[in-house]
Amino acid sequence: MAIRGIILDVDGTVILANKVLDGASETLEILRNRGYRLVFCTQQNQYSDRMLSDRLKTAGLEVSEHEIVSAGAVAVDFLARNHGGSQVYVVGADSIRDRLSAVGMKVLSDRNGETADVVLVATDPDVNLIRLSAATEAVRRGADFYVTSLDRGEPMADRIIPGPGSFALAIAYTAGRRPIVLGKPSQVMVAAVMDRLQLPGSSIAVIGDQPAQDVRLGRTLGATTVLLMSGVTTPESLERTSMSYRPDAILPGISDVPGWLDQVQ
Ligand SMILES: [Mg+2]
Repeated sequence: MAIRGIILDVDGTVILANKVLDGASETLEILRNRGYRLVFCTQQNQYSDRMLSDRLKTAGLEVSEHEIVSAGAVAVDFLARNHGGSQVYVVGADSIRDRLSAVGMKVLSDRNGETADVVLVATDPDVNLIRLSAATEAVRRGADFYVTSLDRGEPMADRIIPGPGSFALAIAYTAGRRPIVLGKPSQVMVAAVMDRLQLPGSSIAVIGDQPAQDVRLGRTLGATTVLLMSGVTTPESLERTSMSYRPDAILPGISDVPGWLDQVQ
């Protein structure tokens, strides 16, 4: 079936360390002019979808908030629906705490975090041992344990820094329980992007830089998968990637996508 919708990752795919990657803006324009439905599916959780849209516009990419499906928004929505009114402890940024409060969750402070019913681990620029230990204790006491993503890290200009997955696995190792993922490639995220695109999986291409998140998400929905080498994946790490997350195509960067579509359509 011909590709009609494209799910694009953000970090490492169209942007890297807040800079637009070469050719990304032009490529989005080409794809839009050709009539492809676009959804930007990101593990970002520090900002609301509107703030993400504003940040992308400031960086030079025209992306509306309605085109964004972010792990943060999906996690907030999931917790509101499934744990409404519960006490939640967050290892994450203030903005995700504020958004959880806004949907009626009782957000605990670092002082009494260990009594939480629910623990959510997200991107935390101020993570420290107090937070990790409060979350660990809550999980040990039986709190439901969620993480926005298990990405190996977050790509910066000259390095990859530990992210939510790293913090959650530190807690999991000590508490002896694994977290439930709410971002890519979870069913929760799949449902959110499918709801937005309203297309069968076979007419969708998923484009991203991480096999275990982007390619796996694409596999789950029966889409064509494209891995870009512009983010965290290196030729060496690709060698070690499980066969089940190998993409249908590997391209150097986003500007190679229109040419690839010409070949496969
Ligand atoms: Mg990425």
